[in-house]
Amino acid sequence: MITNAMRETIAKEMDQLKGTGMYKAEQILVSPQGSIIETNQGRMLNFCSNNYLGLSNHPEIIKAAGKAMEQWGYGLSSVRFICGTQEPHKELEKRMSAFLGTEDTILYAACFDANGGVFEPLLGLEDAVISDELNHASIIDGVRLCKAQRFRYAHSDMQDLESCLQQAGKSRYRLICTDGVFSMDGDIARLGEICDLAERYNALVLVDDSHATGYIGSSGRGTGEYWGVTDRIDLITTTFGKALGGASGGCVSGRKELIEMLRQRSRPYLFSNTLAPAIVGGTLKVLEMIETDNPFRTTLIDHTAYFKGLLKGHGFDIPEGETAIIPVMIYDEQTTVKTAHKLHDQGIYVIGFTYPVVSKGKARIRIQVSAAHTRDELDQAAHAFAKVGKEMGIIT
Ligand SMILES: *Cc1c(COP(=O)(O)O)cnc(C)c1O
Repeated sequence: MITNAMRETIAKEMDQLKGTGMYKAEQILVSPQGSIIETNQGRMLNFCSNNYLGLSNHPEIIKAAGKAMEQWGYGLSSVRFICGTQEPHKELEKRMSAFLGTEDTILYAACFDANGGVFEPLLGLEDAVISDELNHASIIDGVRLCKAQRFRYAHSDMQDLESCLQQAGKSRYRLICTDGVFSMDGDIARLGEICDLAERYNALVLVDDSHATGYIGSSGRGTGEYWGVTDRIDLITTTFGKALGGASGGCVSGRKELIEMLRQRSRPYLFSNTLAPAIVGGTLKVLEMIETDNPFRTTLIDHTAYFKGLLKGHGFDIPEGETAIIPVMIYDEQTTVKTAHKLHDQGIYVIGFTYPVVSKGKARIRIQVSAAHTRDELDQAAHAFAKVGKEMGIIT
C-alpha cells in the first residue's frame, strides 16, 4: 500500500520538475500525425516529429496495414517462438535484410527492446562494450543489462575511442556501439573511422540507425551507405517508428550468427509479444515504396536544404549538418523556452531543448523537417521564425 510519505516524496519531486521547467506535459493531438496537426490549442504546423519521409499517415500504408489485419488478424496473442510467427513476419525480416544489405534480421516490438536485448546474449564478463557518450537511452540501458566491461568515449572523439579500444585490449570481444545520427545535433557518426579502428583493434561495430534508416545515404539505407561501410558493420539496430511509417516496432539486422544467437537468447524477443500483423503489413508496404526508388527522400533532402537556407538567410545560428534535424542554436535557456512558446502562438509546433537534455549553455530549438511539408508551409514557418527571432532579439 502506498504510504503518505511516498506520495509526499513524489509530489515534491514533481514540484521540483515543474519549478525547473522539466516537467513533461503532453500536447494532445486531435488529428493524425502530419505536417499539419490539430491540437486542442488549434491548428499547428508540425516541426518536431520523426515523420521524416512523411509516411505516418500515408493512405497506401494505411490501406496495406488494414489489409494485413483483415488477412492475418488483429493479434497473435503469443511470442514468436510459441505460435506468434506468421509468413509476413519472416517476409519482413527478409525484406529488411535486403534493404539494409545484411545477412539476417530479427524483429522486436520496438527499437528500445532491440537495444535492450542485443548486448546481453552476445557479451559476457570477459568482453567489453565501448559506447559514444551521447548514445540513446535504450543503448545505455541495454549495455547495463550485460556483464561486459563498459567504456564510454567522448562524443565522436576518435582518439578517445582508440584509447578505450587499447584499454579493452585484453577482452575476448570488443563491441563499439554508436547512434548513426545523433538526435540532438543531427550529426552523423564517423563510421568510416570507427570501422577502421574496429579493424585495427579487432572489434565489432553496432550502429543504431533509428534516425537514419529510410533517408540517410544515397538510397536511404542509412549511415552505413552514407559512408560506404555497410559490409563492415556487424549489427544495425533500427526502428519502424520514425521514417519507416512511424507506427512502432524495430529490429536488429546483421551477421547471421549473431542474429541466430539473439533468436535463442534475447529476452525482449523471447518474452514479449510478436509484432501485430497490421504493423508488419504497413512496414512491408513502406519498404516497397522506398526500396527501388525513394521520392520521399528526395523531397526531404530538398526541403531540408531549402528551409535551412531560409533560416540562415534570416541570420539564425545553425551548425553544419546534412540530416533533417536542424538545431537552431539560441544558447540561453530562458530565451529558448520563450521562443518556443511564441512560435506555438504563431501556429508553429517546435520544442525547445534545454539543460540537461543538451549541455548547459547549448539550448536550442530543434527542427525536424518532413517530406510531408509543403514549400508553402516551410515559407510560413521561416516567416514565423524571423518574426519571433526579432522579437526575442536572437536575430536583427
Ligand atoms: C527513437 C530511438 C530509439 C527507440 O525506438 P523505438 O522503436 O521507438 O523504441 C532507439 N534508438 C534511437 C537512437 C532512437 O532515436
